[in-house]
Amino acid sequence: MNIQVATQGASTARPLAGKVSLVTGSTSGIGLGIARSLAAAGSAVVLNGLGVAAEIAETREKLAGEFGVKVDYSPADMTRPDAIAEMVATILAEHGRLDILVNNAGIQHVAPLEQFPIDKWNAILAINLSSAFHATRAALPTMRKNRFGRVINIASAHGLVASPFKAAYVAAKHGLVGLSKVTALETAEDGITCNAICPGYVYTPLVEAQIDGQAKAHGISRDQVIRDVLLAQQPNKRFADVGELGALTVFLASDAAASITGIALPVDGGWTAH
Ligand code: NAD
Repeated sequence: MNIQVATQGASTARPLAGKVSLVTGSTSGIGLGIARSLAAAGSAVVLNGLGVAAEIAETREKLAGEFGVKVDYSPADMTRPDAIAEMVATILAEHGRLDILVNNAGIQHVAPLEQFPIDKWNAILAINLSSAFHATRAALPTMRKNRFGRVINIASAHGLVASPFKAAYVAAKHGLVGLSKVTALETAEDGITCNAICPGYVYTPLVEAQIDGQAKAHGISRDQVIRDVLLAQQPNKRFADVGELGALTVFLASDAAASITGIALPVDGGWTAH
């Protein structure tokens, strides 16, 4: 058996120096926060997601300037398996490696089951679940070759428990937790780990978009919406910050987390302790 001291060569300040990370859906919110933390830890980063070209270019420049790492961008549409495979192939052609894959892209739609639009069901399953399968499938060969890889799937508390009116989202996130376990089992002897992070509510544009709508719908203030509607299930009554998810991702990507694989880790202020 080959016993190694895991932290050899990695500086504490930049534990991911020399690594290459891809974060899907990182033009906004949690993905952008995670990309920022990975860049701060010294990893080259490939951003992905929808958005205005000039703003994405500005984000790239800012991250690269602030942290002195290479920051690329792929416009791959996460509903398209061919685009996902091409994105990973391009990263391998340009960087020669892919060490850290964060499957984060996601959308939401809320409606009762009988009225749930079929196109929304298909889009949520494609973006929130199938894209992670396609990206992982494309990334594993190079990770196996390097005998190092980290696949981090951004699931949700809704990967562990359900709420009404979120059929597609809850199904996709439970599926993503299952996919994480299978990935962990199939890669366990190859220096690769795969874990799911299961956030409760995190303050991002996806959540901000719900606050005013809910306030109007219920005839209550924004503060009441936050406390009594959005955070009704979340005992600590606070949104997590994207930096908290970033810090956890950096830890799971580090050598110190080499034995953590196949878990679904709640970051939900106690929600799933109920
Ligand atoms: P967000 O809307 O701020 O970001 C979503 C990202 O996904 C954006 O970059 C967007 O461009 C990208 N995206 C959407 N459709 C895409 C497509 N077809 N192709 C490529 N990229 C696409 O949302 P967020 O709150 O940061 O959510 C990020 C992830 O975290 C999602 O998977 C979400 O389900 C999960 N999550 C969020 C919360 C929360 O409270 N915000 C809680 C639990 C889990």
